[in-house]
Parts: sequence; C-alpha cells; structure tokens
Amino acid sequence: MERGTATVRVLRFPVLDALGRARERTRQRLSRLRFPPAATIEAVPAIEPAEAVEAVEAPTARVAARFHAAATLAAVAVALVGYHVLLGWVFDIPLLRTPAIGPPMTPSEALSALLSGVALYALRRPPGARRPGAESLAGICAAGVTALGLFALVEHAMCPGFGCIAPPDPAASMALSSSLAFVVLGGALLSLEARKIVVEEVLALVAGVIALQALTGYLYAARPFVGQMPLYAAIATMLAAVGLLFVRAEDGFMAKVASNSFGGLMARRLLPAAVIIPIALGWLHLHGQRLGLYFLEPGLTLFALANVAFFVGVVWWSVNSLYRMDGQRRQAERELKETAAKLQRSNADLEQFAYVTSHDLKEPLRAISGSVQVLQARFGGQLEPEAEEFIRHTVDGANRMQTLIDDLLTYSRLTTREAPLQPTNCGEVLREAIGNLAVPIKESRAVVTFDSLPTVPADRTQLLQVFQNLISNALKYRSERTPKIHVTVEDRGHEWQFSVRDNGIGIAPQYTDRIFKIFQRLHTRMEYPGTGIGLAVCKKVIERHGGRIWVESEPEEGSTFFFTLPK
Ligand code: ADP
Repeated sequence: MERGTATVRVLRFPVLDALGRARERTRQRLSRLRFPPAATIEAVPAIEPAEAVEAVEAPTARVAARFHAAATLAAVAVALVGYHVLLGWVFDIPLLRTPAIGPPMTPSEALSALLSGVALYALRRPPGARRPGAESLAGICAAGVTALGLFALVEHAMCPGFGCIAPPDPAASMALSSSLAFVVLGGALLSLEARKIVVEEVLALVAGVIALQALTGYLYAARPFVGQMPLYAAIATMLAAVGLLFVRAEDGFMAKVASNSFGGLMARRLLPAAVIIPIALGWLHLHGQRLGLYFLEPGLTLFALANVAFFVGVVWWSVNSLYRMDGQRRQAERELKETAAKLQRSNADLEQFAYVTSHDLKEPLRAISGSVQVLQARFGGQLEPEAEEFIRHTVDGANRMQTLIDDLLTYSRLTTREAPLQPTNCGEVLREAIGNLAVPIKESRAVVTFDSLPTVPADRTQLLQVFQNLISNALKYRSERTPKIHVTVEDRGHEWQFSVRDNGIGIAPQYTDRIFKIFQRLHTRMEYPGTGIGLAVCKKVIERHGGRIWVESEPEEGSTFFFTLPK
C-alpha cells in the first residue's frame, strides 16, 4: 500500500506537467488565431446561390395564382359567349346572337367558342396536378374546334371562284378569319393537352393577333365590311388566346413574364401598355379627324409625336429602373463577397482551432494512458478488485478519447492538408482499403466483391478514407447473416456513380440524412463502438471532389451508399 501511494505521487507530476504544458501551448496558439466575435459568426446569413437564382427565375406564387385565375375566368367567359349565342339561335332571340355592330355570330362559331371554353377550363390546373378524365374531355373539345374551323376553311376554298370572301350562307358558315382563328385555337388547345407548351403559346399568340386585328377593325371602322369576323367571335377568340397564354404560367415564355425577375416585372407592366396605347392613340387620331378637329397632316404629326412620347417614356422608365437595380445588385454583390470572405476566415479559423486543440490533446492523453497502463502492468493482480475496475475504466476511456481525437484530427486535416487532385486508379485504392481491413474481414467471414473501377481525378489518401470508412461500416453494422459487400460503379456521362452495398442491419429512412452529420450516431457505444465521424469525413471528401454522397437503405435488409465523382 505504502509503495503504491509513493508511485502514484511520482506518476502525478509528469501527467500534470504534460497537461499544463499542453494547456499553455494551446492557449498561446489560440491567442494567435483571429476569431471574429461570436455575434459576427452568428450574424452571417446562410446563402445558397443556386437557391437565390431559382427564386428569381421562378414565378412568384402571387403572380402565378393571378395568371391561373385569369385563365379560369377567360375559359368561363369564352364558354359563356358561345353558350348565349347558341341560345340566341335555338330560341331565335336576335339580341343574343347579334351585337350592336357587325354580323351575327354563326352557330358553328358559337359552338367552337363553347368547346374552346370547355377545353380551356378542363385543362386549367394548378401546377403538378393531373386530371386524366378532364384532359380527355379537353382533347375531344379541342379536336371539335379544329374540325369546325377546318370544315369552314374548306368551305371557303370550295366557294365558286376560289377567293370570294363571303361564304355561301353567311348566317350558317363562319367568316374566313373566324375559321382561321378557330383552327389555330384548336391547335393551341391540342398542344396544351399534349404539353407542347411553346407551340401552344405561339399558336395562342397567332389567334390573339387575328382577334386583335378584328377588334381594332371594329374600333376604327365606321361601317361593317364583307367577311368581317363577328364581334362576339373576335371577343371569344381574344379571351381564349389570353386564357391560353396565362394557363401555364410556370412554363414556356410566359414563365419569364410571370417570373420574379426584373425582366418579368417589365414584361408585366409594358406588354399590355405596348398593345393598348398605340391602338388607343390611333383611335384618338381617327376620331379627332372624323370630328374635324384637325386635317390629315397635323393629325398624323400628333399621332406620331404621341407614339414617340409614349416610347420615350417607356425607355426612360426602363433605364431608370435598370440603373436602380444595377446599383442594388452591385451593393448586394459587395455584401456577398464580404460575407463569403468572413465565412472563409471563420471556417479556416475554426478548422485550425479543431486541429490545434485535438493535436495538443494527444500528448497529455498519451501520458495518462501510458501511466495507467504502467500502473496496470506493475500492480495488476495486487490491487483490490474495485481498484482494478477503475484502472480498466480509465484505460478504456483513454483509448476511446484517443480514437475520438484521431478521428477529429482526420476530419480537420481534410482541409488543413489538402492535396491537389491527381488521376487516381480507384481499383487500386479499393484493393488497398480492403487490405487494410483484412483482419475484420477475416474475423467476420465477410465476402467483399467489386467490379472494375475507373481512374478519376482524386486525392488518393482521401479516397482511401472513403472506401475504408464505408467498408468498415458495412462490416461493423452487419446482421446475423454472413456479411456480403459489393462495390460497383456506373457511368453517368459527366460523372461516375460509385456504390457500396451491404446486407447489414440497414438504416430507418428518417435517419438517412442525419448520419452524414458529424457526431451523429444511431446506436449506443455498448451496441456498436464508434465516434460518429466516419460518414462526415466521407461527405467532406466527396464534396471537396465536387460529388454527392447519399444512402438508400431498408432496415434489416441492408444499405447501399452511393457517391459520385466528376470525370
Ligand atoms: P460511427 O460508425 O463511428 O458511428 P459513422 O459516421 O461512420 O460513425 O456512421 C454514423 C452512423 O450511421 C452509425 O452510427 C450507424 O448508425 C450508421 N451507419 C453507417 N454505416 C452503416 C451501415 N453500413 N449500415 C447501417 N448503419 C450504418
């Protein structure tokens, strides 16, 4: 007992000395590191550039919702126009089928409008949702619209003397422009149903131009002319064209109009003005002249000047907005750069901190574990069972701490000791990893197989760590079955997709993301030893190489870890 006490006293000093020296050295090194105050680190916002770009390009939910509502309203209005004109024909109510000016809307035009409205209504839907029944109904209606338009076109072509504008029976057949408009509208609806959004948008624009030409004609013309598209047909076509443009705000060029970007904002403000203002100015010019307010030349001059003033105003507004946005963008870029630099500095400092701390912890730990092991070797069997138990606990704790420090050092060295990427033969690296794990492989009677692996640009040491960590996990988390591990690769064009498959205990789906975070473990130390750093190392290595890592797993069935490496 006397001897034991004396030895313990002697042993205390080197341990304390080592700890004191390490603490002092760490303090000095840490004082040399430039840590930003904690508040600065916390204030750094999480910035995801890819997310930011997507946020600008995607339509805002508010705009998309408005566009969808406009498309629904347009669909209902088109169907109503057709419906009320058909009622006018069925019950012979001239007021319902003939507007104050121009020819009446014919029954086939009314039917085409009704079918177009129904088709558009059936095809309008919030993004993502599919309604196969409604889509089939829309397809049938759209085919009907196209057929009615084509039939009228053929009728016009067959008309004696080919080129006569008025069809044989103006009360029953469509006007030439109506037949063209409905063929185009039918095509647009069929394209929408087939999800050919760009074609659909172009056809909707063509239909819109035909309708606009007819409506402008009504606005400007003093009296109706032969072959004129009925006013109701022009209104229905215009509404259907607008509805078709707004119905898929998330696709095609309308996605740009609906987008959150400056371009989207400009388009939403300027496009309606660019259509309405020149037509309104033309109307003012014409009516001023008709009322005898001015002669042709001064009137035209006024018209031209008004147009110039409008477009100069538009350009000035755009320039101003662009100038302001440019300033804001530059400011944001400056702030982003500063934030990135701050982040980089604090990251480097934190990594250095982890490295210095864990490195300096190793020395006193060695002293502790060495001393306790000496104690155990010298006095093993002479001490009381309780004292032996304490010594065992101390040795065990010191060993675990040693492993933890080694793993932490590995983790922080990933960035403090980066080597350039060199062409690396993955097959050779895998064989080396398997060689390093020969003992646990033999002990567990595992069967490890692999396919031929490519040569990729990589940091050889780090890639070895990845293979070794994944295979040793597959051995550690084995089930009752004989462990079977297979490593393979798939050519994905611009990258290689590696996979390490096992038949172990598997992972519940809710944990498949969590396990790649440092210190995240799904089991107690008693069940499976470990530090929870292995997969975090793999993730850091793979991301440093420009790849991704993930796991697909089924509890009790096994897991497959996938990672990609660019070619
Ligand atoms: P460690 O193995 O030291 O705990 P890892 O970071 O390597 O740390 O793994 C994190 C956790 O992921 C493990 O605790 C384990 O629960 C789970 N895990 C990793 N690999 C497998 C595997 N092949 N099969 C089942 N679970 C696994």
